[in-house]
Amino acid sequence: MQARGYRVRLRKLDPYLNVDPGTMSPTQHGEVFVTDDGAETDLDLGHYERFTGRSATKTDNITTGRIYKNIIDKERRGDYLGATVQVIPHVTNEIKDFVTEGNDDYDFVICEIGGTVGDIEAMPFMEAIRQLGNDLPRGTAVYVHLTLMPYIPAAGELKTKPTQHSVKELQALGIHPDILLVRADREIPEAERRKLSLFCNVRESAVIQALDVANIYDVPMAYHKEGLDNEVLAAFGIEPAPKPRLEQWEEVCNRIRTPEGEVTIAIVGKYTGLKDAYKSLIEALHHGGIANRVKVKLEWIESEVFEKEDPAPYLEKVHGILVPGGFGERGSEGKILAARFARERKVPYFGICFGMQMAVIEAARNLAGVEHASSTEFGPTKEPVVGLMTEWLKGNELQKRTASGDLGGTMRLGAYKAALKKGTKISEIYGSTDISERHRHRYEVNVDYKDRLEECGLTFSGMSPDGVLPETIEYADHPWFIGVQYHPELKSRPLEPHPLFSSFIEAATEQSRLV
Ligand code: GLN
Repeated sequence: MQARGYRVRLRKLDPYLNVDPGTMSPTQHGEVFVTDDGAETDLDLGHYERFTGRSATKTDNITTGRIYKNIIDKERRGDYLGATVQVIPHVTNEIKDFVTEGNDDYDFVICEIGGTVGDIEAMPFMEAIRQLGNDLPRGTAVYVHLTLMPYIPAAGELKTKPTQHSVKELQALGIHPDILLVRADREIPEAERRKLSLFCNVRESAVIQALDVANIYDVPMAYHKEGLDNEVLAAFGIEPAPKPRLEQWEEVCNRIRTPEGEVTIAIVGKYTGLKDAYKSLIEALHHGGIANRVKVKLEWIESEVFEKEDPAPYLEKVHGILVPGGFGERGSEGKILAARFARERKVPYFGICFGMQMAVIEAARNLAGVEHASSTEFGPTKEPVVGLMTEWLKGNELQKRTASGDLGGTMRLGAYKAALKKGTKISEIYGSTDISERHRHRYEVNVDYKDRLEECGLTFSGMSPDGVLPETIEYADHPWFIGVQYHPELKSRPLEPHPLFSSFIEAATEQSRLV
């Protein structure tokens, strides 16, 4: 739709009871995606941003928990005085308000409901979108149902039954899908497609196969090839013109398909078993690869390993080391050792958030002689090189926190400005000294140690505009050693790779010529 010149907005409706995913373990729910306006949201919003290039906001993700919280707050205030507060209409109205508000600047609003048809917790959402079909002007709401068509090897066939069954469930809720998007790992034969059309009461041209693709950025072209966009326009009664401009996506896919080289990056982290925990990071590294026309191979290393074994055999052959965001003491010593290896052996190092904090602790201990340097995140310490922030400025507003306050939604969250020092590597990479990046952390590098660390060669290359909070660090005498307190991966897109990731992969490409 966007490639045809339409303005598109995507919104995600999550049926779970958490108010937001901020307090959920990444091993359960995957990465927490942070928006510019400081919302902790579902990782799907990251996909939305990467595909549309439009920055998501707080109002693009809602959960059952948030809906009920709003309603119960209103009920306590007395907003419903006299009424019995119920799922229909109060919960459904709250959902409908969420879906319909703030859409004036858009031609299409795509609302995704998480989960599976039939989930108890998704019922109010299904009911709300059913009602919307009647509330909105005729012809302005279309239902697209995503289903799975599994292949049964023993029978040698793709099965239509799960789709038939799920459509039946959906119809029992009063929703009739206009389009079926059917995921399959192989071509759906004509006969099966006809069967789906017949049994699900969907026109044949609207049964769209969503075949597995080699890389996610093939999806827009793959769906276009299957005619999804034409079918959507037809369902709205819009003449399918003009043709979509997909050249940029073609270029991205060509670069991924035919790289000119390969680099290996070690990611030293804690949740390395579940790749969804690092979704945006993985994508951003691949964007760096796209920018440099190289394939980026990722080597996942549990940092705890280095607490028992020498990191050298693990890290000697890689072309770059990345320590990503993280929480808690477990595994932190291993990350500190990875930073030390990178510094001493002059391997490109990228420390993100926790990864920057660990690099600073490493420098304090091994360069500045602060033997017991640590973070207050790990317990009381005499040398809080990284410490809990209790006050900081957001714009002109003073934010205050205490150690015993709520954990949900109270980190330093969202876009903050930073001032980069002229002449530093990082300001060169950005081509600017004023930047704005997304944050999600409770602790900060302690500015009291700045002078001692700078004397040892660790440059504090970027600070918050008031000069209180260290935002970026680097070594001048190292080919590429940068730590950032924020999460640049959240703003990287395939069509606009983040400059730090492009530059890091470029440095890794240089390194690959040396080892
Ligand atoms: N645990 C650290 C903090 O809260 C780092 C957080 C992160 O890496 N996102 O400051």
